[in-house]
Amino acid sequence: MNYNKKSILDIDVSGKRVLCRCDFNVPTKAGQITSDKRIVAALPTIEYLLNHGAKLILCSHMGKPKGEWKPELSLKIVAERLSQLLGKEVIMASDVVGEDAMAKAAALKEGEVMLLENVRYMKGETKNDPELSRQFASMAEIFVNDAFGTAHRAHSSTAGVAEYLPAVSGLLVQKEVGIMGKALADPERPFVAILGGAKVSDKLNVINNLLEKVDTLIIGGGMAFTFQAALGHNVGNSLLDESKIDYCKEMMAKAEQRGVKLLLPTDVVVVDHFPSPIDAPVEVMTVSADAIPEDKEGVDIGEKTRAIFAQAVKDAKTVVWNGPMGVFENPTLAKGTIAMAQALADADAVTIVGGGDSAAACEQLGFAQEITHISTGGGASLEFLEGLELPGIACLQDR
Ligand code: ADP
Ligand code: MG
Repeated sequence: MNYNKKSILDIDVSGKRVLCRCDFNVPTKAGQITSDKRIVAALPTIEYLLNHGAKLILCSHMGKPKGEWKPELSLKIVAERLSQLLGKEVIMASDVVGEDAMAKAAALKEGEVMLLENVRYMKGETKNDPELSRQFASMAEIFVNDAFGTAHRAHSSTAGVAEYLPAVSGLLVQKEVGIMGKALADPERPFVAILGGAKVSDKLNVINNLLEKVDTLIIGGGMAFTFQAALGHNVGNSLLDESKIDYCKEMMAKAEQRGVKLLLPTDVVVVDHFPSPIDAPVEVMTVSADAIPEDKEGVDIGEKTRAIFAQAVKDAKTVVWNGPMGVFENPTLAKGTIAMAQALADADAVTIVGGGDSAAACEQLGFAQEITHISTGGGASLEFLEGLELPGIACLQDR
């Protein structure tokens, strides 16, 4: 995939009607926004476009209304919050591509901004319906994609509309693609990737693709146990993707063939019972990774492993991390994940975190400021690391 795409910085937007797809899929509780992080992340693009005289039409999805008009998934609360953040009125349309949206878009003046209703109120959105794409396009002269979180989806407002309008990236998408694209295409070496999380099957293609790029691949979290099993070790009651044992063997052979250092845990923190609720107090002990007792379950990497993994990260120039090292939702079992976050924060390297839970862990644990880039797209960043073409990026004009 070509990562070198035109952005809003490369075109003239003055006096033009610009349709900008954002990711305003914010978490809410009882009708209130609980985190406005995604709205804040979109501000640089919105402010740039307004300051350069665009007539700005914003759109986004929220939740999964599945083509139904669900009032609790209205973007009105986003318009209100955005208006506070921008210090100016955000005109709210009462529909997506209906009469009200069309009339308000036509009446926009330079430097004015409006927001369409939830694009997933339209049945055609997730089907990438050409008719809906054409309706979106009819409102504007330029399409800007700044929604990295949905860039792996071929929907009308993320990709389809680009068939009918000149399309460029917003600043957020440009940053995501720039940093992750460089890491995959032309990384400063040593390049170290850390993969964790629950299951091997979630990240099969990521493991396979990264083995073609990195100098060292670190595997922790629940997925490490299938690799341990592939080495012939007993993993007790730990998470095991039995059907993926052969795949893990293949990946170990591939690493050896390509001269990639594959690091697995040497010691493991184990419990008798998985905590329930997940943050309940637990008693733990540490055992050697090749001797997990039959009745124990591995839930975090041990202290020796933390030191080995951290050292590999400290020697790196590029680090990509996806997936926690243990059940970090429990404070007792978060030590491995904290050690990795700390190692990334300390490293003199370009450090990139992708994956919803890993990003949340970095933020909760207070390391976000010291990491080069935390991706705003969980699923999208995974597909990026898999080396897949993302429709919402592929549709943009090449530079
Ligand atoms: P991300 O969202 O960053 O891609 P995943 O969704 O793949 O990460 O995995 C996160 C989940 O993996 C967390 O809920 C965590 O508790 C779980 N996990 C990590 N290590 C283990 C383990 N050893 N046993 C069970 N679950 C684990
Ligand atoms: Mg996750």
